[in-house]
Amino acid sequence: MSPCVAAYELQSGGDQCTIPIEVRIALNDLNRQLITYESVSEAQLGQLTDALRHRRVVALTGAGCSTESGIPDYRGPGTRRRARNPVQYREFVSDAMARKRYWARSVVGWPRLSQALPNAAHRALAVMEQSGIVRGLITQNVDRLHHAAGSNHIVELHGALAEVRCLTCGAIEPRDSVQKRLLALNPGWHEQRAELAPDGDAELPTESIERFRVAACQACAGILKPDVVFFGESVPREVVVDAWRLFDEGDALLVIGSSLAVFSGYRFVRRAAERNMFLAIVNIGPTRGDSLAHLRVSGRAGEVLSRLVERCLGPGCRIDFGDRSGNPVVPR
Ligand SMILES: [Zn+2]
Repeated sequence: MSPCVAAYELQSGGDQCTIPIEVRIALNDLNRQLITYESVSEAQLGQLTDALRHRRVVALTGAGCSTESGIPDYRGPGTRRRARNPVQYREFVSDAMARKRYWARSVVGWPRLSQALPNAAHRALAVMEQSGIVRGLITQNVDRLHHAAGSNHIVELHGALAEVRCLTCGAIEPRDSVQKRLLALNPGWHEQRAELAPDGDAELPTESIERFRVAACQACAGILKPDVVFFGESVPREVVVDAWRLFDEGDALLVIGSSLAVFSGYRFVRRAAERNMFLAIVNIGPTRGDSLAHLRVSGRAGEVLSRLVERCLGPGCRIDFGDRSGNPVVPR
């Protein structure tokens, strides 16, 4: 272990604010480089292809599906020791300073997050839907990258950061519009460097957050909240109904890039096991559903799914998945 990693582990056990932001970014980059990926065997891919080819597949996707688009995962390898607390629902709705903290960070993180591009995993799933192998997607991701890749039948279990909702009147405003208003209220704010996190949040020093001015609802001046499910908040009932409706269309569940730590996703795995549906899990690292799975593939979502598409549909349907360094995908 390098001295840098050791120091990071020592410090990250305590106060999350003890490490300067520049150091934390450097250490996160270092941690990412320490991750090694093993290529998935042809035998495993063959098993996955044979199992899914003639089934009606419903996919459940998590953060691991978007890491290759540059959106980091809270729970994936290399991020386990991140000493960072996601925003809690109760704190957000009851504490004005918590909202200031959220928006002050979010306004910095949003440009990078909103410009993220779908990767090979997203594109492979869109192709699989168009070719009738995948019926639809239940996603835990809030980045809208499945839409960007061309998937149509999507249930966003945790909402989407692209929209903002008023907690008083329920009005929806696009996040891009809120971004413009936040920047008008806080000129020059977006120029601050910050680290991107999956919820569009980013690290900033507390003293600068206190100066931040939060935007209110344009219709009623109420409190605005990104239209995503925060930690400590329930998935809206109508979304759960939509998700079960889609789930019922399938006879196989394919989990991609989720450790299934959150119950909102794990419940589908449990139901699949109860019904004796075929269950396959593609993820780097162990998941809560491993003991229930018929097939477990450890690998990068983009690589596994692009090779799966090629096997299911023929070599003409090759999906590029970039190189192992995590560099952006370049067409061959
Ligand atoms: Zn309102």
